Amino acid sequence: MKNLVVLSGAGISAESGIATFRDFGGLWDKYRIEDVATPEAFRKNPKLVLDFYNMRRRECIKAQPNRAHIGLAELENDYNVFIITQNVDDLHEKAGSKNVLHLHGELMKARSSMDSTLIYDLDSLNSDIQIGDQALDGSQLRPHIVWFGESVPMMEKAQDIVAKADILVIIGTSLNVYPAAGLVDNVSDGVPIYLIDPNTVFVPRSGINFIQKIASEGVGELIKILGSAR
Ligand code: NAD
Repeated sequence: MKNLVVLSGAGISAESGIATFRDFGGLWDKYRIEDVATPEAFRKNPKLVLDFYNMRRRECIKAQPNRAHIGLAELENDYNVFIITQNVDDLHEKAGSKNVLHLHGELMKARSSMDSTLIYDLDSLNSDIQIGDQALDGSQLRPHIVWFGESVPMMEKAQDIVAKADILVIIGTSLNVYPAAGLVDNVSDGVPIYLIDPNTVFVPRSGINFIQKIASEGVGELIKILGSAR
């Protein structure tokens, strides 16, 4: 089977009710990145940061995968599907996708603030992280999120996956956040690239097949295209 690699971003979860980064009136409009999504913010005001992610986690627990997530999971019948997502929600997993790599961490996990390898699953019934909650090393628990200014430990693995792609599909990402956006450069020459987004996204590469639609409709169209290409 061919390797179909998907790079997804916040746009794929928009139809599930999770705001994208740059939506007007969304969560990210009310908070500044510097106040909630950097290591400095956590040092300065850990309660604000924990509350912000507690709120996002509750939203994630309620959210259901949409037809785009489900369509990608179903493609596993015909392809080796590898999903590399910038999203911290778990909607690809809820849809049934088996190979999901989270570049920017996972909302449903917590970790030690001293040791990035000491990671814990959070219980959906009691999911908030509070001040005073400790990891086994005695440090304050923090969200298992790659904050702005932190390195992206999964990057090398993601580059290897993209390098083995026979087909690359990019969905719902403005390709503004690096190093994730640079993954497109790791695809081999001649590999077909499909980009699903209702808006115009600039990709510094020629030969992209643009599907200018929202994720659910775009994945439906992709499945038809792939079906007729077989
Ligand atoms: P972004 O907000 O920069 O870009 C979102 C893209 O999705 C845009 O190009 C937009 O046109 C497109 N879009 C909007 N509605 C869509 C729809 N219905 N279907 C398909 N596409 C749609 O998001 P990004 O590129 O993922 O980067 C922002 C960062 O913010 C990432 O690092 C990500 O971790 C984080 N983030 C994650 C979530 C989540 O986990 N669901 C939500 C918000 C932000």
